[in-house]
Amino acid sequence: MYYNDETLIFYNGQFVKAKDASTSVYGQTLHYGNGVFEGIRSYKTSEGTKIFKAKEHYERLKFGAEVMDIEFKYSVEELTELTYELLERNNLADAYIRPIVVTGENMGVFSAKGSELIIQCWEWGKLMGDKLLKVKTSRFQRPNPKSCFVEAKVTGHYINSILASNEVKKAGYDEALLLDMNNNVAECSGANVFMEKEGVLYTPPRGHIMAGITRATVIELCQEEGIPVEEKHFTIDELKQADSAFFTGTAAEVVGLQSIDEYQFPQAWEQSHGSKLMKVYKEEVLGLRKHCLTN
Ligand code: PMP
Repeated sequence: MYYNDETLIFYNGQFVKAKDASTSVYGQTLHYGNGVFEGIRSYKTSEGTKIFKAKEHYERLKFGAEVMDIEFKYSVEELTELTYELLERNNLADAYIRPIVVTGENMGVFSAKGSELIIQCWEWGKLMGDKLLKVKTSRFQRPNPKSCFVEAKVTGHYINSILASNEVKKAGYDEALLLDMNNNVAECSGANVFMEKEGVLYTPPRGHIMAGITRATVIELCQEEGIPVEEKHFTIDELKQADSAFFTGTAAEVVGLQSIDEYQFPQAWEQSHGSKLMKVYKEEVLGLRKHCLTN
């Protein structure tokens, strides 16, 4: 699904075939989840292949390495260049890109010396598809921000997302919604959440959530489009009085919600701000907007 015999990845400072790459069974990332990664997309645009928000993604990767005390020497510029080269070598334009920084061999619970950068890419459709999602509130909360760096994309943090997804998928739902430790709505297992109420969009503020790059892009697009948007905490009961809701994320892009638990969102999706933003976001990543945002 992710690679074939010809697929190249960047690993250990060079481009190698994915099928020939291997990593240590004593690695700290494997044992304890001490690694950092990114999820990035590139798009085929009229001006060639464009990696969307490469700078923001690679800055977040470097931030993660820094707070986790993982040695990591690549600059944002080097990472971006390597990624363009990898796409070209794999003959890919519309791609999902997965850089990961894995730590060295160490069975102790302090950061290992050294790290390796792996960059992989493959063709991947919208993670959650295009149809409206049936969402369930998970019994798992997002982690207490005092227990980890919630804004760092650390491999080990994703156990929380896996627990929530497993729970709701087994119950027949498409995706999980997680609350924070204060019982406010936080986010989906791999995307941020917005709700629309009486023409205004609300999204939880930073603090207990991943500071999504798509979320930030959507907020800027709202400002350009004159759509009122506020960063504000809201509860699950408030979400269940909303007119409509949607998720945002690099892999998911913008995708609407049909329901949360037993509550069906009443607004016709096509008339919602979410639907408009879904189209505008697509134009933005494809470089089709007149007033394109930076990058
Ligand atoms: N929340 C979580 C938990 C995520 O894993 C992601 C994906 N990185 C997001 C939100 C959305 O972030 P972004 O828009 O930067 O992809």
